[in-house]
Amino acid sequence: MTERRRLGVLGWPVAHSRSPAIQNAALAAAGLSHWRYQLLPVAPELFAELVLALPGAGFAGANVTIPHKQAALALATDATPRARAIGAANTLTFGPDGAINADNTDAPALIAALPFSVDGRTAMVLGAGGSARAAVWALRDAGAAEVRVWNRTAHRARALAAELGAATADGATPADVLVNCTAVGLDGSNPFDRLPLIPEDLGSYGCVVDLVYTPTQTALVSGARERGIPAVDGLELLIGQGALSFAVFTGVPASLDAMRAAVTAAP
Ligand code: NAP
Repeated sequence: MTERRRLGVLGWPVAHSRSPAIQNAALAAAGLSHWRYQLLPVAPELFAELVLALPGAGFAGANVTIPHKQAALALATDATPRARAIGAANTLTFGPDGAINADNTDAPALIAALPFSVDGRTAMVLGAGGSARAAVWALRDAGAAEVRVWNRTAHRARALAAELGAATADGATPADVLVNCTAVGLDGSNPFDRLPLIPEDLGSYGCVVDLVYTPTQTALVSGARERGIPAVDGLELLIGQGALSFAVFTGVPASLDAMRAAVTAAP
């Protein structure tokens, strides 16, 4: 009998994650019938203890989401340069003798989802939390000439910008790419009440990316598309990072079609 290989997503809370749906769909599409991907809810104080127990329980790896991405990097015995530079990991793989390898696939997924190269272009990032760190690092690493950061709490934007080679802005200024890395819009409320821009401003970007995902299109994504501006939604980014993690876990590419079909299907 083939030994079962296990994968999962570590988070707190994590019940609403779409990762099991997309990862199990990709496992099935790849014919990896002895693999399973599951929710791994774990409170911060138990995170290290649980992660260290996973290899012995048959886990080959795990994704990591809020609030554990920094703790995941700290626990790793080895990490990719991008995970170290970002200061957070969303992908852990377990090797022999207790080895824990950390990577960050949020950053390359953002760059891969953009409709054009950012090399030499400008970007406006809203937010200064964990996902903003990954976005700013990814945009700079991909050659963006200038990355500006706005955040509700200005000193966090200043600290992030200084560390990762970006600039700060008092508001959302025109750029080739706008990336919303705040949690604004997650509850379905009007994002224009809390972000420093009005719907008409969306026409001053070459592309709009919203990391937030909701059951229907977010107001940022629909507002951009109504103006003919290409937009990338949070579900596409979820699939992008998930597909890259899948390849790290299994060594084979993920079926994006299978993931896209599963992400919006009922749980
Ligand atoms: P985080 O580290 O907690 O940062 C939250 C950010 O949102 C901070 O910049 C915070 O500003 C800002 N914010 C929260 N409430 C706000 C409000 N009412 N008005 C203005 N700004 C507000 O979270 P994160 O990990 O960066 O995640 C941010 C969002 O991206 C979440 O919705 C998450 O679900 C989403 N996300 C999606 C993906 C994907 O694959 N699609 C991946 C990662 C994250 P302050 O500093 O002022 O508090």
